[in-house]
Amino acid sequence: MNLTIEVPEEYDICEETEYGNVAPELPFIFDHRRETGKKNKIEEKIVYLDLDETLVHCPRLSIWMKIFNYYNDMSIKENEEKLKDNIKIFLQMGGLRPGVKELFQTLNELLIMKKIDRIGIFTSASNRNNYVNYVKRCIEDLCEIPENTISFVITREFSTYYSRDGATIKDLYECYKLFYSIETSTELYENYGIKDAVILDDKPYNVAQFACGEYDKNIIGINQYKKDIPFLEFIKNIKLEWCDKNKIINLLKDGKVRNDEPLSKERTIVATILNDEVIYPYNFDYIDDGDMYKKIEIIKNRFMS
Ligand SMILES: [Mg+2]
Repeated sequence: MNLTIEVPEEYDICEETEYGNVAPELPFIFDHRRETGKKNKIEEKIVYLDLDETLVHCPRLSIWMKIFNYYNDMSIKENEEKLKDNIKIFLQMGGLRPGVKELFQTLNELLIMKKIDRIGIFTSASNRNNYVNYVKRCIEDLCEIPENTISFVITREFSTYYSRDGATIKDLYECYKLFYSIETSTELYENYGIKDAVILDDKPYNVAQFACGEYDKNIIGINQYKKDIPFLEFIKNIKLEWCDKNKIINLLKDGKVRNDEPLSKERTIVATILNDEVIYPYNFDYIDDGDMYKKIEIIKNRFMS
């Protein structure tokens, strides 16, 4: 695909990306000395799951969601469902990591057996355009687990600390802040504990408790999952009735949008897609290393024993 294109300004339907706060000079270090040795703390068995590159790889999905949001009134329920269907197709084409269905089925069983209390997504991604909420709902559908088995979602919007790579620092106490109204961090460390919380993340070093020593078993690293799903294949597979799908496919095959031709919805969409591919050239050959299956065993053993 020829990606040397110039995108006229009027084609640009996407806002500039905000990247949250500037990363601090030094990575955040969790001060575990603030924890008290108090017994009878509330110790919930929480399973936090990172989203991007752990459960899914959706590099092209956010631009598609922006396009869809731009052209469709999302206050209409039917449009929400159509977007959800598109996201599901994206995930079925490889956006969803192999083993994720087995992971959620295992976690759901652990929930039913009361071996764990909560499962949630803990991500550095922003929930703008409801990205995380939609992906969560699609994961629940595709993994055939009851709605809201994933009972909480912590996104970039909740975060206070950022690492040098721009990701958020994830604190294993975060769930308590979300579910209990806790006034001070002293109250938090006095009354709540995290020895029974685990997180599965491809960037374990961005967990606040990483390298504390005593929480090594709580932080489970996993190899990064990356999978390229080219837009041409994606568009071919989805249902589109609010624009001319064939026009989009032909323009994508050309790989360019000339500046001298009149604006149309399809040309604008393709220019937006191609522009995004120039800025973020994703091209991954992924070999499934089965790492998720190993991690399922670790989580299972952790809570069954
Ligand atoms: Mg990640």
